[in-house]
Amino acid sequence: MAHQKFDTDYNMNQEDLFKKLIAHSKEYGYIFQSSEIYDGLSAVYDYGQLGAELKKNIKEYWWNSMVLLHENIVGIDAAIFMHPKVWKASGHVDAFNDPLIDNKDSKKRYRADVLIEEAREKIYAKINKEVDKAAKRFGDTFDKDQFVATNQRVLDNQAKIDELTKRFQAALENNDLADLKQIIIDYEVVCPISGTKNWTDVRQFNLMFETKLGSVSEDANSIYLRPETAQGIFVNFLNVQKSGRMKLPFGIAQIGKAFRNEIVARQFIFRMREFEQMEMQFFVRPGDEMLWFEYWKEKRMAWHKALGLGDGNYRFHDHDKLAHYANAAADIEFQFPFGFKELEGIHSRTDFDLNQHQEFSGKKMQYFDTELNKNYVPYVVETSLGLDRTFLTILAHAYTEEKIEKEDGSFDERVVLKIPAALAPVKLAVLPLVKKDGLPEKAREIIDNLKFDFNCQYDEKDSIGRRYRRQDAIGTPFCVTIDHESLETNTVTIRNRDTMEQERVSVQQLTEILKDKVSMRKLLEKI
Ligand code: ATP
Repeated sequence: MAHQKFDTDYNMNQEDLFKKLIAHSKEYGYIFQSSEIYDGLSAVYDYGQLGAELKKNIKEYWWNSMVLLHENIVGIDAAIFMHPKVWKASGHVDAFNDPLIDNKDSKKRYRADVLIEEAREKIYAKINKEVDKAAKRFGDTFDKDQFVATNQRVLDNQAKIDELTKRFQAALENNDLADLKQIIIDYEVVCPISGTKNWTDVRQFNLMFETKLGSVSEDANSIYLRPETAQGIFVNFLNVQKSGRMKLPFGIAQIGKAFRNEIVARQFIFRMREFEQMEMQFFVRPGDEMLWFEYWKEKRMAWHKALGLGDGNYRFHDHDKLAHYANAAADIEFQFPFGFKELEGIHSRTDFDLNQHQEFSGKKMQYFDTELNKNYVPYVVETSLGLDRTFLTILAHAYTEEKIEKEDGSFDERVVLKIPAALAPVKLAVLPLVKKDGLPEKAREIIDNLKFDFNCQYDEKDSIGRRYRRQDAIGTPFCVTIDHESLETNTVTIRNRDTMEQERVSVQQLTEILKDKVSMRKLLEKI
């Protein structure tokens, strides 16, 4: 059948797209709300049978890019529970706060800094609208740089943004909660639910979950669920350095759960209360940190771009306010369905953490540099990526609705998840054309050979067209169909998910074809 792809987008707006994506994730076993039968738990999600596979593949891509491809990076797996003093030393007990504000009419709670950032985004959107309008009017002769440098409305809005940014930065820097509220009032921010400007004062809220260690609550010690994985690496810095005989510069990578009692729990798996981080702390000589900061910024961006989700969907964003531990920080942002938002942070953390642990534990956290013949506390550059957010970038980009023109001129529709083939949960579906004549047995034989290398699925139910649609909907890059000719010539047709093109190939070729198209190695070679 010569299907022709007709239209990839029914002018779906991003909000609709996002809702459909959430429904699709549930329908096909990617993501379920936690404890759904009890009406769910806010901002906590479970990964289903396909979600768990995709997550595992993302982890492998990240882990291999760090640990396999760098001789001087090793991986660890530290516990979630840590001594409570760790969080005193790291600054989390005293400073891991978000400024929150309530709307008195809707009773909804917001992060004050997020409201202000959204207000700023709205002004940016006005500028972009102006630019788009002008680009249409002037056509090929349009000079964007000249336009933004001279158009009065653009200049006025840019001035507004600059002033807002300056005030916002100062308020964050000085922990000036009153001014954060004043900015919200001055920029006429309204609650999206009630539509009013009836705001409470801004207060600080600590994001760590506290729990008790020990069986008898009277002697119990308060401990925290870790809010980041990084501290497990810092406290093990010397253990790894000594036992692994590591020489500076070297890195320690880790993938693990982190917990934050987020104030605003919206946007699906973008902001969860239990989530997973993939972090790497790179220990360097003091003074070399800026070189490594730039190096890791570029490396991490290349890792994202190799996924093929569109280079234009990524951008760097320098922090308005540096965290208490950092001397440089940048985010990699992705264009999610709800706008450009942080995906990964790259931070130059100085010697802050190791110094703090040295002070609080009374144990030396120093490295002996044989070249310089001296002891010092190393500096750290970290890359900190959210696994769930990476998952969301892939799903959001993958979800596509297509209208296809059939041979008879009528139209068909399909939903296809164009997940990067190397990360797809199921790599290959094997489909006997009919349930008899030895075709199912042939299909099983092929799976029994391929299953050691690739996650395969067998499906014999319904028409072949419907089976293709089911595989499209879960993002399987290839379908192999077994027909009567297969028995005679030991050949099958292989169908490509994205182009829907089919090709007849010999069964012996399948392993090579799949290796070439779905291998993680190809992805890693692009970084
Ligand atoms: P945000 O400003 O969005 O709250 P953050 O700056 O607090 O994020 P970091 O502390 O730098 O985040 O954490 C590193 C990464 O961990 C983030 O870039 C993000 O991908 C991920 N992350 C942080 N908080 C969450 C969360 N609540 N849910 C899912 N992922 C998260």
